[in-house]
Formats: sequence, C-alpha cells, structure tokens
Amino acid sequence: MGLSFTHESLPQRVVFGAGGARRHLAAEIDRLGAARVMLVASAAEDALADRIAGDLPVVYRWSEVHPHVPVEVARRARRAAIDAEADALVSIGGGSAVGLAKAVAMTTGLPIVAVPTTYAGSEATNVWGLTEKGVKTTGADNAVLPASVIYDSELTVGLPVDLSVASGLNALAHCIDSLWAPRADPINAALCLEGARALATGLPEVVADPGGIDGRDRCLYGAYLAAVGFASAGAGMHHQICHVLGGAYGLPHAQTHAVVLPYVLAFNAASLPTLGRRLAVALGSPTPTDPDAASAALDELRRRSNAPTSLAELGMREADLPDAVRRCLAAVPDTNPTPVTPRNLTELLYAAWSGRQTRRTP
Ligand code: NAD
Repeated sequence: MGLSFTHESLPQRVVFGAGGARRHLAAEIDRLGAARVMLVASAAEDALADRIAGDLPVVYRWSEVHPHVPVEVARRARRAAIDAEADALVSIGGGSAVGLAKAVAMTTGLPIVAVPTTYAGSEATNVWGLTEKGVKTTGADNAVLPASVIYDSELTVGLPVDLSVASGLNALAHCIDSLWAPRADPINAALCLEGARALATGLPEVVADPGGIDGRDRCLYGAYLAAVGFASAGAGMHHQICHVLGGAYGLPHAQTHAVVLPYVLAFNAASLPTLGRRLAVALGSPTPTDPDAASAALDELRRRSNAPTSLAELGMREADLPDAVRRCLAAVPDTNPTPVTPRNLTELLYAAWSGRQTRRTP
C-alpha cells in the first residue's frame, strides 16, 4: 500500500547548547525587537531566572505559577502584561511556567521565548491548558506556540533525579503515544523513535550522573523531538487516560505518565507489530523481534531508573477506579489500534493502580 498522509510542521526557532542560555536568550529577545519583557518564572526557579535573564529589559516579573494554569491566575497575569505594556514573554521553568506564558499569549498575542528546565515539552507545542473548578480544558492555537526555545542542559542539572525520571518518562510517553494517536504519520514516527532512542540512553546516564551534561543533553534533545511529534500526532489513548486521572483526582502530571505508560504500551503494541519492533530497537532491546520486546525494554528502563510503579503510590484511591474507567472510556480515541472495552480498560486501570506487572515473564 502506498504512503498517504498530511503532516503539518509548526514554525519555531530552537537554540540548543549547554551553558548558552543567557547569551542565547538575550539574542532571541533582540531578534524579536522586544524592549519590554514580562518574565514568568516560579519562586522556586528564582535563582535560575536571575542567572540567565540578567541582560533582558524586564518590566514585570510574574512568579505565581501552578500546574494546569488556574483560570483566575491566567486572568490576573494577562492584566499584568497589559498594564506593564509588555511586548514579549519569557518563561523559565517547567511545563507549568510555559503554560502560564501560553495563557497570556493566547489573549494578548505576545510572542514567547521559552527556556525549559524539565522534559515536559510544552514549549514545542501549540497546545494550551486552563483549569476552572477542577476541570481542565485544552485547545490548540498557534498564537501560544513559543517563537523561540532556548535549551541549555546546565539548567536541568538541579532537577532532582526522581523528578528527572518522571519527566523523562513523560517525554517518552509523547514519543510512544504519537505512534498510534489520531494524526499519527510516518514523520511523527521518525521524530518520536529518534526521541525515544535519545531518552532511553539519556535517562540512565542522568540517574548514574545527575550533574553530567551528556545525559542531560540527550534527554532535552529527546524531549524536544517527542513534543514536536506529539504536537503533530495529537493525544492518543495514553494522554487521554493521564489527562482524566490528573484532572479528576489531582494526580501529579509527570509521575502519572511514568506509571501509566507501560500498561498502555502493552495494551497497544500487539496491534502494531512493525512499529513495536522499531520502538524496541529505539529502546535498546537486545531481542527486538520478540513480540513483547518494546514492553520488556521499557520495563528494563523503568527498573534501572527507579520509576514510580503504581497509581496507588501517587495517592489515587481504589474507590475512584470505577469512575475513572467510565471517564476514560469516553475519552480514548476510537482510532486506538486495540479496541477499548469496559472490561479491558478496567483491567488496565486496576493493573496500573496496583502496579501489577504489565506482561507475563517467561
Ligand atoms: P512543573 O513545571 O510543574 O515542574 C515540576 C516541579 O519541578 C516544580 O516544583 C518546579 O519548581 C520544579 N523544577 C522545574 N525545573 C527545575 C529544575 N531545573 N531544577 C529543580 N526544580 C525544577 O512540571 P512539568 O512536568 O514540567 O509540567 C507539567 C505541566 O505542564 C502540566 O500542567 C502539564 O499539563 C503541562 N504540559 C503541557 C503540555 C502542552 O503541550 N501544553 C505538554 C506537557 C506538559
């Protein structure tokens, strides 16, 4: 069968280099012709922000940053940007800081220069998210896509190892879910398999040597490719499940991805044998032609990285599982390669909740 697909690439500059953030950031602001910067960085990232934003014409500094962008915080930040007559936004931090900058860009049209310090990847997508009364709404709008992204792995050496692992597995989830998401195509697959390769080699290096630049570089590079593929492919079964769990039960974002990923991979891999083999190769499997090689390689990566293993350990209550099954059934795309039923989804979520092994070992 011939190839047939439509692929859209998003316009964005990426400047990558360890130790270069301060210089690169000033150059990107210059390039935009901006003279009044609103800086978004949480109080926890204050020291980092001081270090790299020192050469910028900052007119306002916003430090109230929460996961999933509460709508009332977004409203106040938008007002602050207008009152300060800002002409550009700079975000320094993880997905939550970029998310707040996106919420401001959405209504003001201001360009964003993003300086990520985790592997969440929001900086490379045109997806925004806002939360009101516990319900998270997301949408896509090119106005929120950062104009430039500055990657500097020196900024990530302070990310604690457990958070680095969860965040890196969140990035790997972008890679894997993109293989079967609603707009999956061969270009996304190429980006995401290279991203998976970089993350699978980078994460164990970060665990072994958290201060080392090579592993951190590989993870940032992999996280960027993962997010580009994900932005194009859309949210597949894995992201829809994590979105429900995070929104309805307040589970932590990256850790939820880290726990759920092996279960969704085991659920779908058998329906996509060719991509499963390519993923197994990317994850470094010694036996990529085995039917469950990709799952086995992911299990090994998670074991070596001490990844979180169950939704129960993240604080989810067993009593919430039937409600979670109902919500997830409604959210999983009907394009998912393995058909989803109340029964198999119940099995999947109970297994992820308890941390039961995803496959039978021989
Ligand atoms: P986060 O931004 O909330 O950061 C997690 C924690 O790590 C925070 O406490 C933060 O202060 C700390 N931290 C960040 N960088 C650090 C560093 N270098 N050193 C030490 N500590 C550091 O979490 P996240 O996982 O990066 O982002 C999650 C948010 O991003 C969620 O709201 C999620 O929905 C959103 N997200 C959006 C997209 C998108 O495309 N729109 C993609 C991925 C994630």
